[in-house]
Amino acid sequence: MAVYDKNSLKADEFINHEEILETLKYAEENKNNVELIDEILAKAKPIREDGKIFCKGLSHREAAVLLACEIPEKIEEMFKLAKEIKLAFYGNRIVLFAPLYLSNYCVNGCLYCPYHAKNKHIPRKKLTQEEIKKEVIALQDMGHKRLAIEAGEDPVNNPIEYILDSIKTIYSIKHKNGAIRRVNVNIAATTVENYRKLKEAGIGTYILFQETYHKKGYEELHPTGPKHDYNYHTEAMDRAMEGGIDDVGLGVLFGLDKYKYEFAGLLMHAEHLEAVHGVGPHTISVPRVKKADDIDPDVFDNGIDDETFEKIIACIRIAVPYTGMIISTRESEEVRLKALEMGVSQISGGSRTSVGGYGEEERPHDTEQFDVSDTRTLDEVIAWLIEIGYIPSFCTACYRAGRTGDRFMTLCKTGQIQNCCHPNALMTLAEYLMDYAKDKTKEEGLKLIEKEYDNIIGDKIRELTKEHIKDICESNKRDFRF
Ligand code: SF4
Ligand code: SF4
Repeated sequence: MAVYDKNSLKADEFINHEEILETLKYAEENKNNVELIDEILAKAKPIREDGKIFCKGLSHREAAVLLACEIPEKIEEMFKLAKEIKLAFYGNRIVLFAPLYLSNYCVNGCLYCPYHAKNKHIPRKKLTQEEIKKEVIALQDMGHKRLAIEAGEDPVNNPIEYILDSIKTIYSIKHKNGAIRRVNVNIAATTVENYRKLKEAGIGTYILFQETYHKKGYEELHPTGPKHDYNYHTEAMDRAMEGGIDDVGLGVLFGLDKYKYEFAGLLMHAEHLEAVHGVGPHTISVPRVKKADDIDPDVFDNGIDDETFEKIIACIRIAVPYTGMIISTRESEEVRLKALEMGVSQISGGSRTSVGGYGEEERPHDTEQFDVSDTRTLDEVIAWLIEIGYIPSFCTACYRAGRTGDRFMTLCKTGQIQNCCHPNALMTLAEYLMDYAKDKTKEEGLKLIEKEYDNIIGDKIRELTKEHIKDICESNKRDFRF
């Protein structure tokens, strides 16, 4: 029997089944232990010292107790703490991105995804470099600066060379004032050598969802194809880091297995990365299983309601305060609003989840990977964020300034990164407003920028930000950053 060891490089040891079961037992036994819950909440509170902010975060066992707790007043305290941490480290900024589906050819048999190899009636499509150009121009014309590229696993149709060519194409397109400044990559688990190639191609974050941490369930949900190999998939982030990628994004697909099990596994994975590589995950995504072509989410009997989903988000925020959290347009406006309060720091906007969807007037459905719940345009999402008090940000500065991995985390862990995030958010918002926004959004956005100058720390940075924004508004000068 494998023994739990967060320092191990073996999946069965760092995501140890027995340790998860023990954790869930401990959480169940302590879910009404007010004294312990208070202790855990106190440990997680942000500490301010010499103008810096620190958070201790929580172990997977401690966080599991919070998630299991059913005492309404304590849950309220959890939500309050999650909001406090969110505000301390991420302020009122929300980073925007869009997914770009390159190809839905896939050799795997994932039971929850319509791109599975046995689905014979879904049209298969792979964008040519010329088609990618058109998609990227459409995305730039919406105002996007940050993309997450997605492709099924298919060594013949989507080899690594195709992905590398596509990244090159995306970065090369400069249409009007537009540019894609950060390409995150969501492709199947691969070799150290391929991760090295992705790093050399200048990717931002490498994202790979675990789907489920429950090994037996995982193997049943992935009956065929290379993805069936749980250990190879689970150890992918270690290979990515060995290949030089130091920003990695984790995620589980909530609804496939029991959420408490997934939650413990997710945090153990984060602890493992921190222990072995000195850097935890850059982001955690929280997708839920959704309807799609031949997929009915009700088939999976572990679906979670919105309240539980909210609690999961709050507990992740408290446990790993330095990890960005991402929510996609799988979720409705209402759910996304709550998620933003509880801890989510990045959202997609105006997304098309089909291969080649951005160039079309109407949202195509035939090759969609999942049904989009939030169907608003990017401008509508931006206007909404401004209206509810958030600063929409298109910032990509850290990765371009080489602030990745532990360099990034050091700044993040003292709250100092905010001194960059805030002015960068305002400058990139100004670019969006001048180049892409509808009149009303522009008017409200410019008012927000005026108001937010006061929240920039440091007179010099404030003055420089004002100067740059003046330049953005009065000329075609772009891409200022701290
Ligand atoms: S989830 Fe990914 S690997 Fe699985 S079928 Fe869909 S595209 Fe293929
Ligand atoms: S400054 Fe860095 S951490 Fe802050 S929003 Fe920009 S890229 Fe993200």
